[in-house]
Amino acid sequence: MLRDEEGVVPLAGATDLYVGLNFGTLEPRRFVNLWGLAPLRRIALRGGTLSIGALATYTAMIRSRQVQRRLPMLAQAAREVGGMQIQNRGTLGGNIANASPAGDTLPVLAAAEATVVLRSTSGERRVPFAGFYTGYRESLRRPDELITAVEVGTVEGAQWFRKVGTRAAQAISKVVMAAVRSPAPRIALGSVAPTVIRLSRTERALADGAGIDDAAGIAESEIQPIDDLRSTAGYRRRVVSNLLRRFWSDTAPG
Ligand SMILES: Cc1cc2nc3c(=O)[nH]c(=O)nc-3n(C[C@H](O)[C@H](O)[C@H](O)COP(=O)(O)OP(=O)(O)OC[C@H]3O[C@@H](n4cnc5c(N)ncnc54)[C@H](O)[C@@H]3O)c2cc1C
Repeated sequence: MLRDEEGVVPLAGATDLYVGLNFGTLEPRRFVNLWGLAPLRRIALRGGTLSIGALATYTAMIRSRQVQRRLPMLAQAAREVGGMQIQNRGTLGGNIANASPAGDTLPVLAAAEATVVLRSTSGERRVPFAGFYTGYRESLRRPDELITAVEVGTVEGAQWFRKVGTRAAQAISKVVMAAVRSPAPRIALGSVAPTVIRLSRTERALADGAGIDDAAGIAESEIQPIDDLRSTAGYRRRVVSNLLRRFWSDTAPG
């Protein structure tokens, strides 16, 4: 259907799509309901690679032993998404495809250096998450492709996640950070730029032994936060600096 009918929209948990339909920002179209595709729900460890099906819900990720053990920052992010109803319906694939800069799983996937698996009738391809988004709400996914899974190799080092929103539940992130403390730290942020970003210059400075004050200054120069109805750019800058310091002290060796 995706190949043959222009404008057909894949529908997973519908937690984003229904918002658009209710607010009238999504004109009526034909949907293809993915919910029954059981193989896309699977969470499995193959070799050293954790494969999480696109239809895995937040609840499934929270409950998964493999996610808890290998990618605890994803379980933590899932626990802080929406409320229980959203966690039961919302999916990882939907969060990725929706491509909001505030999507809570996206910094986790960026920090974990995940791979997105895409499939169409013409075959399967794997895209590094780092290059998946091409601009604000734009990605490399073609309209005839489904996201089928996300793959994550072994993540060495302490994982850290923090979401800052108005409340503990049912709040879109003002700033969201996921990070890994290893000799080459990885730090990813949501809600501070048109897409999820890695702080590559900050990471390099920390790897080279820079102090946290200098690193926080570099981090501020790497983000492009905006004022919007959820927060101000100034607040977001301050929070990024605070989160970076908190990450660094929480994961300090010894
Ligand atoms: C009350 C409420 C609270 C929320 N809270 C949060 C929150 O705290 N954090 C957060 O990040 N998000 C939040 N969301 C947004 C939403 O729940 C998530 O983005 C969720 O992961 C979307 O998944 P879904 O399966 O419902 O996607 P859908 O609504 O079904 O689809 C979303 C988009 O992805 C596309 N799509 C879905 N699956 C695929 C696939 N496999 N392949 C290709 N395209 C696909 C659809 O065509 C559509 O464009 C909230 C939403 C609501 C309504």
